[in-house]
Amino acid sequence: MGGRTMSGQLDGLVAVVTGGASGIGAAIANALADEGADVAVLDRDTSGADPRFAAFAADVSDRAGVDAAIAAVAERFGRMDILVNNAGIGAQGDVAANDDDEWARVLSINVTGIARVSAAALPWLRQSPAAAICNTSSIAATAGLPQRALYSASKGAVLSLTRAMAADHLREGIRVNAVNPGTADTPWIGRLLASAPDPAAERAALEARQPHGRLVSADEVAGAVLYLVSPRAGSTTGTYVEVDGGMSPLRLRPA
Ligand code: NAD
Repeated sequence: MGGRTMSGQLDGLVAVVTGGASGIGAAIANALADEGADVAVLDRDTSGADPRFAAFAADVSDRAGVDAAIAAVAERFGRMDILVNNAGIGAQGDVAANDDDEWARVLSINVTGIARVSAAALPWLRQSPAAAICNTSSIAATAGLPQRALYSASKGAVLSLTRAMAADHLREGIRVNAVNPGTADTPWIGRLLASAPDPAAERAALEARQPHGRLVSADEVAGAVLYLVSPRAGSTTGTYVEVDGGMSPLRLRPA
């Protein structure tokens, strides 16, 4: 596409990236396109989507909207090979901090959203010779982060759902894996930092708390996702890759 250098390992394949208009999802969309995939971005706010990609507006918490968007992707491209379920939102606080409506809202986006989009895409993925799904979880799924009860529950469920989907669709040739980013430098983190009294000092403190002294880059997360959905990971399913500077595997805690 557009004069970019491609090695072409995904030539001829069609990829759908939810939340692909910003941050980690945008980096994933770029990485897949650089390898030759045709990329469809599905996002509730497509205004920031790279114009190189076909953008479809849908909220993953709305089944009718998801079904319509996936039908539009199929109409446009006639196939689907790769699905990256990356759209997600945050939630702060301990287990008492959010009411039932907020629990339902976050779980509907972060967990059921993956089920909705995957269910709509499955009939197409079943027809692909190289079908793969990657779900964006988080370090919060495994690290026991303080003041992230609802978010952690949602991202833990993403890992369980990933394994269940991998089992269900193994014999259909659809691989399902997940990626667990640590604190990644995206507009999401930018918004959090912007609300601090001194955003630059807050950023420096946040970087110093990371095991490798800096934030994870969205491109580093995208690199792991690219591997997991590529034919080179053809024998890898039901697992996850941690892209967190070593925090989770080394059992470190954010200071
Ligand atoms: P971001 O806010 O920069 O981008 C998220 C994108 O998802 C946006 O384009 C947004 O419009 C879209 N989106 C949000 N809710 C949606 C919905 N209901 N339907 C459709 N689209 C929706 O965030 P990011 O930092 O790039 O995060 C992407 C994913 O990575 C999320 O699942 C998040 O939980 C996960 N993650 C982020 C970090 C981090 O530190 N940034 C760390 C671990 C995991």
